[in-house]
Amino acid sequence: MSSSSYDIVTVGGGLAASAFAASMASKGMRVLVLEKELQFKDRVRGEYLGTWGVKEAQELGIQNTLLTSGATEIPFVEMGFGLRNLVETTSQRLPGVSFFHPEMQETLLGEAQRAGAEVRRGVSVTNVQTGPHPSVAAASNGREQTISARLIVIADGRGSVARKWAGFSTKNDAHPFHFAGVLLEGVSGRRDVCTFVFHPELGLVGGIVPQSKDRCRAYLGYPIDGGFTLQGSEKLGTFLAESKKVGPMFADCYANARSLGPLAAFDAGYTWVDHPYRDGVVLIGEAAAVSDPSFGQGMSLTLRDARVLRDAISNHSNWDQAGHSYAQQHDTYFQRIHTVCCWLRSLFQEQGPEADARRQRAMPRILEDGSRVPDHLFGGPELPLDEAVRARFFGEH
Ligand SMILES: Cc1cc2nc3c(=O)[nH]c(=O)nc-3n(C[C@H](O)[C@H](O)[C@H](O)COP(=O)(O)OP(=O)(O)OC[C@H]3O[C@@H](n4cnc5c(N)ncnc54)[C@H](O)[C@@H]3O)c2cc1C
Repeated sequence: MSSSSYDIVTVGGGLAASAFAASMASKGMRVLVLEKELQFKDRVRGEYLGTWGVKEAQELGIQNTLLTSGATEIPFVEMGFGLRNLVETTSQRLPGVSFFHPEMQETLLGEAQRAGAEVRRGVSVTNVQTGPHPSVAAASNGREQTISARLIVIADGRGSVARKWAGFSTKNDAHPFHFAGVLLEGVSGRRDVCTFVFHPELGLVGGIVPQSKDRCRAYLGYPIDGGFTLQGSEKLGTFLAESKKVGPMFADCYANARSLGPLAAFDAGYTWVDHPYRDGVVLIGEAAAVSDPSFGQGMSLTLRDARVLRDAISNHSNWDQAGHSYAQQHDTYFQRIHTVCCWLRSLFQEQGPEADARRQRAMPRILEDGSRVPDHLFGGPELPLDEAVRARFFGEH
């Protein structure tokens, strides 16, 4: 069976696909979302959206939906340099926002549906065809269907298989770190502060993201040769013990913590596709680029993708040109974030004599003047990024 009555078909219905589908359906486009899961569960994903991502949510018109559906505004951030008020100190004048990821997937998929998109759950895409009439093969209840559209949007997440079917090849920048997360209750501490603190000598980064319902998402980044792993709920004791080494605040916060979900760890390396568009098929979200979760940039990038692709389509009647325009912009903003995160990691997380020497030179100057730290994690990829910014951060001036 074959059908081709759509402008856009998305492979996947996560944040990337649903944010994009909602914005295109609200412009009157015929959008079909194909999502394999009937119900979303906790896969341990991003739950803190930094300020430049909140701005993207505003631009996409979904910020209010997030806030009326269980998301919480978090105005403060603590990164070990003192409490920072993001509303007062970022160019966006916005707080960060936190939420439970599966709830937000449901909310945004509902938003896409309300905007007029057709959402089919329990449907697995099994193939993608590029070309003048791009199409997907979709399987559900033992039946397979070919569906064509003007544009196929691959948004099937970090382990994307669909991009291989469409002929994209990936690049990698491996880093010897893992990043683990678990949902906790009973965590003490302020509910309006998101904490991300590095312990450079141990190569650790601990994160606490308060959410509604008195829950917190706890994260820990750690070196793969640190002598422990954090995969599986039986490792909760190790997760808490290692987190407490990041600083005394973690020991206080986690004194009565109890787990509410799976504990899972992920590779912290980068995987991306250069120029994520070809022949009627475009990649967005983590299918286009996976960033190091230690720096919490994934969802901001994901919403940026949805917004840039939406705008490219609005500005070009030729959607092939729109796809290329999006892909060019994606290469630029993703690589800027990639560059900054690598600088931050080399100073705050890497271990060994060279890293120690970098810290000895840079840290006293940073402690005197925190503006030496590039602020792209909050300010976004458009902040200045050149040799002067790099040298100032590493204390070479
Ligand atoms: C541990 C961890 C912590 C993170 N922390 C942060 C953070 O604090 N801040 C931040 O901004 N980002 C963070 N991120 C990144 C963030 O989670 C991602 O950027 C975001 O989830 C990407 O959304 P997506 O829609 O691209 O992918 P996903 O959320 O993975 O969505 C893909 C969807 O596609 C569906 N799918 C897959 N294959 C098929 C198929 N063949 N057919 C149909 N459907 C399919 C899946 O079921 C899924 O629903 C973190 C990531 C990890 C792993």
